Amino acid sequence: MKPDIKSLTFEELVLALTDLNQPSYRAKQLYDWMHVRLAVSYDDMTNIPKALKSLLQENFQYTSLHQETVQCSALDGTRKYLFSLADGECVESVFLPYKHGNSVCVSSQVGCRMGCKFCASTLDGLKRNLRAGEMLDQVYAITRQTGERISNVVIMGTGEPLDNYDNVLRFIRMLSDEHGLHISQRNITLSTCGLVPQIRQLAEENLQITLALSLHAPTDEKRKQLMPVAYRYSLKEVMGVCRYYFEKTGRRLTFEYSLVSGSNDTKTDAMQLVRLLNGLPCHVNLIPVNPVAERGLKPSAPASVHAFQKVLDQNGINVTIRREMGRDIDGACGQLRHRRLQEMSEEDKQFSET
Ligand code: SAH
Repeated sequence: MKPDIKSLTFEELVLALTDLNQPSYRAKQLYDWMHVRLAVSYDDMTNIPKALKSLLQENFQYTSLHQETVQCSALDGTRKYLFSLADGECVESVFLPYKHGNSVCVSSQVGCRMGCKFCASTLDGLKRNLRAGEMLDQVYAITRQTGERISNVVIMGTGEPLDNYDNVLRFIRMLSDEHGLHISQRNITLSTCGLVPQIRQLAEENLQITLALSLHAPTDEKRKQLMPVAYRYSLKEVMGVCRYYFEKTGRRLTFEYSLVSGSNDTKTDAMQLVRLLNGLPCHVNLIPVNPVAERGLKPSAPASVHAFQKVLDQNGINVTIRREMGRDIDGACGQLRHRRLQEMSEEDKQFSET
């Protein structure tokens, strides 16, 4: 397979064009077309000679996501996109307009192999990793479609970003590169289910991004019931590496905690969480679990959510309840793609029956 030109860093593009005997200013022009002007194809690039376009076409593929569907929320302007990739796979991305700036939630893998019990993204397993260009183009396609500037990016869509470490790191570096969209690393959040060795490595990358850790339970026993990754890494190891991340980067962590009725939402759970966090500078984000039909888990009642929040608050922990966005277009992470796969297999069945 030819390399993807959109996944090359600026420095790599300069070298690639030198190899093709091109002057270095062409690299600047090309990078600008791809990563600032967000060109859909070489056709858009008016100041690039035809001969060079053909040469590039021979040597590289050009990633450009195709928008399959978009659902717009009439309530708050949230938009959920389903994009298809060059090989026919699909990914979901979400546009979230906030008062303080627009945010895009990107997927890092096609499917996921982490197996969390409440999550729709993992229902069909992992298909493949996304390349940097495919993650960038989720942001670019949404910028083109909305005509809005994106100031925040959260890597919280389908997939476990630290299970696709090298491509995700490349994505973050290119997204914040001054030659490209130049999104501040402080406005980029990476969410992980807690792969300990990779968090340690990430802490040493000298980045300014926010790390969000999906905790969802205050004890190993309870966490194992919701997240298979808890069999691999204990909470002691996870909290240890979170502390290391804070010490290395000085960045306050976010802990995500989905409240599941009858599972992890009592005041005792909240007290155990307080002890687990043990003074670590952080922010806790509570999310009543978004019900996924195949999973059968119920969100906590509003009273339990507030009682849980109160315990954390009274113990000096910075805590918010995640505002639910796009309630009317519904669907937790991964549901759009899962539904599409089901529709396709239904069509296949009908096709084979006729
Ligand atoms: N793999 C990464 C990022 C993807 S999920 C991670 O585990 O963090 C982004 C966040 O949404 C995670 O905290 C995840 O646990 C949570 N999540 C997934 N499905 C959910 C659901 N149905 N309800 C509430 N939160 C969910």
